Amino acid sequence: MAEFVTDVGEKTLMGRRVPTSEMPRSAVLSRWVIGLGGLMMLPAITLLHPPITLRHFIVFATFMVLAEVFLAVRVGPGSFYSVSQTFLFVYFVLGGGVAAASMEAVVHFIAWLAQRFRRGVNQTPLFALFDIGHRVLGALLGAFVTAIFFSTGVLAHPISQHPVVALTIFGVSYFAFTVLFKSVAVWTRAGFPEMRSQLWPKTVLWDAISTSTCLPFAIVITLLGGAIRVGPAATVIGVFLAGVCLILKLNVNLRQGNDELKAVNRIGTLINATLDLSQLFSIIAIESSKVVPWDAFFIALAEKESPTIQIIFMTKGGTEITQRTIPRGAGLTGRAISTGELIVYEQQEREQGIDEEDTLSGKRRPRSIVVAPMKFGDKVIGAISVQSFQPFAYRPSQFGVLQTIAAQAAIAIRNAQLFASEEQARVERDEFFSLVTHEIKNPLTSVQGYADIIEMELSGGNVPEAQQAVEIVKSEARKILRLMEDLLDSSKMQAGKFSIRKEPTDLKSVVTTIARKYDGRTDHTFTLKIADDLPMVPGDETRLGQVVENLVSNAVKYSAAQTVVSITLWSDSSAVYCSVADKGLGISPEKLPLIFERFYRVEEGGSEVKGTGLGLFISREIVRMHGGDIRVKSRAGEGSVFTIELPRKAD
Ligand code: ADP
Repeated sequence: MAEFVTDVGEKTLMGRRVPTSEMPRSAVLSRWVIGLGGLMMLPAITLLHPPITLRHFIVFATFMVLAEVFLAVRVGPGSFYSVSQTFLFVYFVLGGGVAAASMEAVVHFIAWLAQRFRRGVNQTPLFALFDIGHRVLGALLGAFVTAIFFSTGVLAHPISQHPVVALTIFGVSYFAFTVLFKSVAVWTRAGFPEMRSQLWPKTVLWDAISTSTCLPFAIVITLLGGAIRVGPAATVIGVFLAGVCLILKLNVNLRQGNDELKAVNRIGTLINATLDLSQLFSIIAIESSKVVPWDAFFIALAEKESPTIQIIFMTKGGTEITQRTIPRGAGLTGRAISTGELIVYEQQEREQGIDEEDTLSGKRRPRSIVVAPMKFGDKVIGAISVQSFQPFAYRPSQFGVLQTIAAQAAIAIRNAQLFASEEQARVERDEFFSLVTHEIKNPLTSVQGYADIIEMELSGGNVPEAQQAVEIVKSEARKILRLMEDLLDSSKMQAGKFSIRKEPTDLKSVVTTIARKYDGRTDHTFTLKIADDLPMVPGDETRLGQVVENLVSNAVKYSAAQTVVSITLWSDSSAVYCSVADKGLGISPEKLPLIFERFYRVEEGGSEVKGTGLGLFISREIVRMHGGDIRVKSRAGEGSVFTIELPRKAD
């Protein structure tokens, strides 16, 4: 009967703490409507039953309202026991079922309309009709059965005329009829989602408790007749019922706590047993739905320095429905991740409803959302969020459960990520070893081959041929040395142990030497444009030479023979610039941002050209250590221009 829990304590609402004893207004209103209904039927009842006074009913109605608001007991997900049921029965009996039941029908209908109007309703119209109808019918039939007993003289003995017998007959037949109607509804699957067969035993049990609790009261009150004093009677009834409710509440809370503890334990065991990330996500989603039921569930992951958060939405079956990327700090999730605090959101009545990026889009917006940050140590690695279309769907104990699940999930996800990155590192290590081995093996093989040739030519007295072979051996040995130096430089850079010595450097002479060296070696045409009055730059001559040489060697490697490689040197008031342009393969726009990464190589088109992917990485590091930068402009198939900018003054 009551659809809302009242014991929700304090909640954080969009960062603001509000006491949630402020029940949704529609819920309170509906209770008052029922209470007022009780008052409204007084004249009729008082006429029918003179011993029942106005004051009796004021007390009953007031108690009923208070009980509805403060003592509703949640007996399971989605099912409530409310003491008002007991009070209702009392005035059914006392008020002569028909009048009370008709009034009950009216007030229920008004309450339902009020809730529906305020969007707080969570009963289908059909069920609301059934809920009212089966009680009205039960009361009518109960009264009818009682009347038959008396009018037909079935019970001839004078004792049967006693009001206790009448009340008992009425009570039992009312109970029997209502249970019969409910059973028929469940068994014929009358289409009420609220009347699921697993709830049926509970419903019958509560009906039985409600009947057997109120019947003795009704009897005592009737027997005492006009002698009863409203105050003491109401106090006794009130204290007794409040006691019963509190005990029930405690019991229900204990049971829930126990169930939640077991569930959290189970989730912990399950998620720690898997290292597969997507499997992990689905286990977290499915298992948490058993303790914290949700209409939408997602896991958000925030990479360490990424400006975005990735959100993965899951279905009830644990499969991924959609992924979304939102800016860091956006939405409730962003807030939970940046503050590291649990966020509970309740859409207030009349409020437009949130239109956050972290809710699953669709016609229905969630009314209740809880976002629990996933913390690993003092770092927040993401968050999990449950969303429900029901208002006030989550209790404080469920917030705690979600936080515990989030903490366990954080450890499991971090483990799975570590495992995945360890795997990735292993693959990269293997690739690196095979690349280095390959890069060394080729020149070494030719060194060995040419050494044999030298030996052969020398023994044949062919000194010029032997000398030619010696040149090749030297060049191959240089390649190996260069590779070794690159590897050493890059690992020093990674470890932060790479250093440069800044001295006034003449870039003009650096560039000219390199151009001259390459001009003799390849079939490319070199053009050199050097501005007059080019100033010296503070820099490490050897390292800057290494950068320019690397750019020139790339220009030669990635362009066809006979094409032009132009080197230009110029300056402005703040910097000196050196550009190396070629008319070669070029680089496609999506690869451009990656070419300065360590070990990155553009394979397509250039796959026959050998390399390690270290040159540009080292070059950029060196230029940056000089306080400058390196830029590239390129078009696939047309060529590339790499430009180094070096500040004229040392920092
Ligand atoms: P490597 O040349 O040893 O592969 P680099 O770090 O020097 O390594 O270059 C990284 C990648 O950038 C190369 O694999 C190549 O695909 C691309 N690249 C560099 N320079 C050029 C260029 N002038 N033209 C086309 N592509 C280039």
